[in-house]
Amino acid sequence: MSRDTITVSEVFGPTVQGEGAVIGKPTVFVRTGGCDYRCVWCDSKYAVLPEYRGEWRRMSPGEVFWEVQDLSGGRPILVTLSGGNPALQPLSGLIDLGREGGYTFAVETQGTVAPGWFRDLDYLTLSPKPPSSGMGTDWAKLERCLEAAGEGTSTVFKVVVFDDADYGYAREVAARYPGVPMYLQVGNDEPPGPGVEPEPDVGRLLGRYEWLVEKVLADGWNEVTVLPQLHVLLWGNKRAV
Ligand code: SF4
Repeated sequence: MSRDTITVSEVFGPTVQGEGAVIGKPTVFVRTGGCDYRCVWCDSKYAVLPEYRGEWRRMSPGEVFWEVQDLSGGRPILVTLSGGNPALQPLSGLIDLGREGGYTFAVETQGTVAPGWFRDLDYLTLSPKPPSSGMGTDWAKLERCLEAAGEGTSTVFKVVVFDDADYGYAREVAARYPGVPMYLQVGNDEPPGPGVEPEPDVGRLLGRYEWLVEKVLADGWNEVTVLPQLHVLLWGNKRAV
């Protein structure tokens, strides 16, 4: 296995980005396999847990890019590198190939690993995990991710909010880094088990969204953007949409 081999859980699309700063934008997803976190409400456990390793593929940058091109019909599109934690993967070769062909790149990661290729991205979403995830935050590592991205990459924070403690955490992140745009996203309850794709309780999700909007407005937190998970409202918890 070569040093630039990428562990891939799935490649799918085109679809529209359902979250964050580029919400609604057409994109092809490359979901990598493996993660250094174990969030209790993770909705991508098939790209995280070792028992799914048998489903993951070890691919060269050229093989991944060929699939991306095939899905996009050869037309340049935004490529979203997701996971798992894509920052664990050697993605510079794929990014170089794509950029030569006019493709743009976005990454979403929790902000624990800061590879040099962050500076070659168009968009970086750092999504440090709030208390409801059961995970902690290493602020020094998050800082290194911001530094690795530098000025040339459009970098934002996205924090998932289920409850008051998560909201307080998001405010803490925003207070630490006031120059970085903050997106809040309503939390979606985890699917009940592997392979289970239940319909989400849309009424409950929208109720939580309303609660979050009212909280932000009551606090006068006017710099923030509050979003639902668009793809969950459209397609539920289905994979690869
Ligand atoms: S960081 Fe993301 S992919 Fe990893 S366990 Fe948490 S929610 Fe899942």
